[in-house]
Amino acid sequence: MLDLRAEYEYMKADIDSAIARCLEHQKWILGPEVAELESQVAKYVGVEHCIGASSGTEALVLALRALAIQRKGEEYFDRSDLIITTPFTFTATGDAILRAGATPLFVDVDPTTYNIDPVLIRSCLEFGSHNPSPIAPRLKIVGIIPVHLYGRACEMDHILGVAQQNGLFVVEDVAQAFGGTFEGRKLGSLGNAGAFSFFPSKNLGGFGDAGMVSTNDDELAHIVRMLIKHGGKDKYNVDHIGYNARMDTIQAAILLAKLKYIDDFNYRRIRIASLYSEGLKDVTDITLPLQAGPAKDGEGSGHVFHQYTVRVNAGKRDLLQRQLKSKGIDSMVYYPVPLHKMKVFQGRYALAGVPETAESSATEVLSLPIEPLMRKDQYERVIDAIVELASNRRLSGHEGKGDG
Ligand SMILES: *Cc1c(COP(=O)(O)O)cnc(C)c1O
Repeated sequence: MLDLRAEYEYMKADIDSAIARCLEHQKWILGPEVAELESQVAKYVGVEHCIGASSGTEALVLALRALAIQRKGEEYFDRSDLIITTPFTFTATGDAILRAGATPLFVDVDPTTYNIDPVLIRSCLEFGSHNPSPIAPRLKIVGIIPVHLYGRACEMDHILGVAQQNGLFVVEDVAQAFGGTFEGRKLGSLGNAGAFSFFPSKNLGGFGDAGMVSTNDDELAHIVRMLIKHGGKDKYNVDHIGYNARMDTIQAAILLAKLKYIDDFNYRRIRIASLYSEGLKDVTDITLPLQAGPAKDGEGSGHVFHQYTVRVNAGKRDLLQRQLKSKGIDSMVYYPVPLHKMKVFQGRYALAGVPETAESSATEVLSLPIEPLMRKDQYERVIDAIVELASNRRLSGHEGKGDG
């Protein structure tokens, strides 16, 4: 799906000299590049603090653990503490909740954006005789993790509103949406904390694992800083159950070199997305993603198209994927199994109604190749292949009858 080499070639001089500087100074653990990246990302996102972490997954765990310490005065949440999130996300979102000691409460997604449905979040929290509570009395909802899936902002106004009314924390999972905005504000600056991933395939990616926690909360930042290095200000005399979860200096150096390209690269993604949507608009059986641009006017949800994901109707998704494959075009399914169907979550989650949209989306979504340096001939080949397959009516053929 992704040609990481092309990106490297494009910014080779910057990256090579960044790595060369590390080789010179040899400060591999919390070297100067880590602090520099933290401060540049904090400025970019518009928050007081950013703390480098060893991965996006660890960033989520660190943010949640810090909230347990800050809000509960305990090292971990309890199993009776529920954290609302989407079942239609990467495993790590739900897994981080388990690792922080809490229980995920999976709430269904919106069929047009694939993001968590704020109306359903509200109905989990506002109940009475007409709307019985979906959760047992001994359980307590403590927070929300909205995931800006595929690079599209969640409806943060509604989510923050319901959180504030109910005293809940919000941790944004920004792993797929670096540079994305909601009503003109950068994602990762809206909740109590944000968790970023710099996994190589993300829209800002390093040369290995790395992540970051963003927050405006001084105390939370202080706790996260302790947790990344074993749990104390002094690693030889610690206060909390910590981790070894620092960001490597060399990843920070590479990310600093790539950071200056991020706005241009996100803009290129948005442009390719609109060309895809233009080229595919007449194809029946395919629903295109909602085309929200960079939200220049400061209104609504921005979308940075980490993925360009279409919905393929009624059992034809796998057929389309195979047919594209036979033409040498890779596509991906994010995500084939909703979290509540995974073994790891059995007996460890709560539901507020069956998440039917997440379940149907898992069988219908298909992400097409998208990357900032994709050439015209490359995305046109994808468009032409899909248009041709659809016009041959082969897409309306039946699964397993001679195709593939
Ligand atoms: C990639 C991703 C993560 C985890 O990030 P890593 O850096 O791979 O640990 C978490 N949540 C979502 C939605 C992701 O896409």
